[in-house]
Amino acid sequence: STTLLGENYEDDDLVNSDEVMKKPCPVQIVLAHEDDHNFELDEEALEQILLQEHIRDLNIVVVSVAGAFRKGKSFLLDFMLRYMYNKDSQSWIGGNNEPLTGFTWRGGCERETTGIQVWNEVFVIERPNGTKVAVLLMDTQGAFDSQSTIKDCATVFALSTMTSSVQVRHRDALLFTEYGRLAMEEIYQKPFQTLMFLIRDWSYPYEHSYGLEGGKQFLEKRLQVKQNQHEELQNVRKHIHNCFSNLGCFLLPHPGLKVATNPSFDGRLKDIDEEFKRELRNLVPLLLAPENLVEKEISGSKVTCRDLVEYFKAYIKIYQG
Ligand code: GDP
Ligand code: MG
Repeated sequence: STTLLGENYEDDDLVNSDEVMKKPCPVQIVLAHEDDHNFELDEEALEQILLQEHIRDLNIVVVSVAGAFRKGKSFLLDFMLRYMYNKDSQSWIGGNNEPLTGFTWRGGCERETTGIQVWNEVFVIERPNGTKVAVLLMDTQGAFDSQSTIKDCATVFALSTMTSSVQVRHRDALLFTEYGRLAMEEIYQKPFQTLMFLIRDWSYPYEHSYGLEGGKQFLEKRLQVKQNQHEELQNVRKHIHNCFSNLGCFLLPHPGLKVATNPSFDGRLKDIDEEFKRELRNLVPLLLAPENLVEKEISGSKVTCRDLVEYFKAYIKIYQG
């Protein structure tokens, strides 16, 4: 049995899908098939999660973490989960000797695949103005290992951009906005919401300090359009500004050698560098504190959980066949 949130789940008890839904775990909703470059939406899984009675009519906040394999997406998402389950506690980040569980393969119940996974427990959060919103956490994984998978990866990223209100992207993903562009323009002209670049292993804090402020300076410098730049690069940069209403960047320090290289590292805090933990304590509430949650909007209207199911179905069609 696995232990999560202090409850025990016996695998034998999981006889039907309703039972499965009670076990908190990541669920694959979009699958990229590498052989025929097609995309598949698991409508049933998505509906089971988003059409639950207590959430289906709430406005949705979708926070997506996107990047290539082995970039630390699951690692970050697991800390986001810790925050969501313990956000009223000063010590939400966890105990020194607790292994990380959640999206990581160690504790998770899904194998690693290209596509989109969501946490099957949707969090109901009351915002400072008293309204309740539903918060969905999403893991967007792309493969960058060949020309053909690069295109698939761009598609997965575009799907994730279209369905999320906040997207956290590792730096490698910067150039993939251009690929998603065509489909976006077919649907609506309105910009997307929040894009937060995450630069990991930042090692020049004396140049730009860790965190949001240093990230802002860094991003401004990177996104400057210069005369002598390749035209394609210039377009990507202009396009990013046209697409997102909030553009941010966060510089994260290196988490320490145990995290990066020790194969037996299981996520416990005592193996993670102090500086990294300090920045993580800032980053996660920046994305998920009730006052910072960004509701998903499409063409200027807020989207409910129920609406999002329909948007997913419509968007996946664009890329199929
Ligand atoms: P994912 O494939 O993107 O979900 O990546 P994982 O979260 O599974 O992490 C892949 C590896 O990178 C693990 O060994 C982590 O311990 C390590 N890792 C996580 N975050 C960082 C980071 O910020 N910097 C470095 N260097 N390694 C990290
Ligand atoms: Mg992962």
